[in-house]
Amino acid sequence: MRVGGGKIHEVGSGRPPSDAVDLGDVALLPRLVNAHTHLEFSDLKHPVGTRGIRFTDWIKLVIEQRLTADPEVKDRSIFGGVKELWDSGTIVAGEITTPPQSYAHLSSELDIISFAEILGLQDERFSERFEVGSKHCEMHPLAGLSPHAPYSISSQALEKVLQHARLLRRPVAMHVAESPEERELLSSGDGPMADFLETIGIITKPHFPWSTEPFDHLIQMLGKLPAAFLIHGNDLQQSEIEKLAKHKQITVVYCPRTHDFFDFPMHPVNAMHHQGVRVVLGTDSRASNPDLNLWNEVRFLLNVRQDIEASQVLKMATLLPAEALANAFPQLAPCGAIAAGFRDRLGLVSTTAVTQEQLYRDLSSNDYRNLQLN
Ligand SMILES: [Zn+2]
Repeated sequence: MRVGGGKIHEVGSGRPPSDAVDLGDVALLPRLVNAHTHLEFSDLKHPVGTRGIRFTDWIKLVIEQRLTADPEVKDRSIFGGVKELWDSGTIVAGEITTPPQSYAHLSSELDIISFAEILGLQDERFSERFEVGSKHCEMHPLAGLSPHAPYSISSQALEKVLQHARLLRRPVAMHVAESPEERELLSSGDGPMADFLETIGIITKPHFPWSTEPFDHLIQMLGKLPAAFLIHGNDLQQSEIEKLAKHKQITVVYCPRTHDFFDFPMHPVNAMHHQGVRVVLGTDSRASNPDLNLWNEVRFLLNVRQDIEASQVLKMATLLPAEALANAFPQLAPCGAIAAGFRDRLGLVSTTAVTQEQLYRDLSSNDYRNLQLN
């Protein structure tokens, strides 16, 4: 391979030139692309709550956490999160941000795609968030909008956000079908999610239920955007996955260790692959995950979800999210593969494997290190 000026120029095989650098017994990999995180929680040493916590109990604790965090802590947190992402091999990250927030002061090569979070079932809160979210997009070329989740924004407000994203030609990232309680709220207006909203002072009756098939309509709405990231999709059913497959510009983001933290039923990632839905990986935040190391998500899947093809797992952390983000932001330098024209930032995993099976075993247990080029 010949590299220089930030780019790979040539990839070849056979006898290396005399000035080639021998990297030893390693697998050479592209840097990683983390499609979903919330950097403002990066100062947390441990996830909020314990494994198996009920989703609504967790949100309650996270809201308390947010209320107590001061802006300085938030800035420090984002700074620490960016460093953690870069040091663990991530080169592009999809980040959900609470504007006003700038990333300009972070002198990092990490490309941050910041999605401005918009939420509020009450009109006043929504209007304020919508305004700062729109401003965020005007100020930052690598930004999109994030209507938080169907349980935290009204369907009319959601329409408005999606229409605005279409107008700006910016992507949207939205948490969808994360827990069974979400479906219950949207389809019946009742259940633990409705109870939770009432406890934080939201009158749910004007907003829920949506309909008996709430995700069908939502998928259709997201499908009208130039690019959309459907975060989680843990609870999507076969018929909904089939509808999702009709909209190639929607990418599902699966966060394996966060999914495991809530002990949700098995993620339908294979059914999605089978239908041709693009599924990529994210870490989510340190509020539900012990770290922001995307390679740890890869290792987790290689160990725990051996029903997913190992080569597919690697693509879900590299080429597929890079493609999805490049569709939304063509100005991003090509990454996620080792090929001519792509960024020359690479990573290494130690291995002496001589078979593919041994290689995947080594990848499932060994650390990923950034390759330092002189
Ligand atoms: Zn999230």
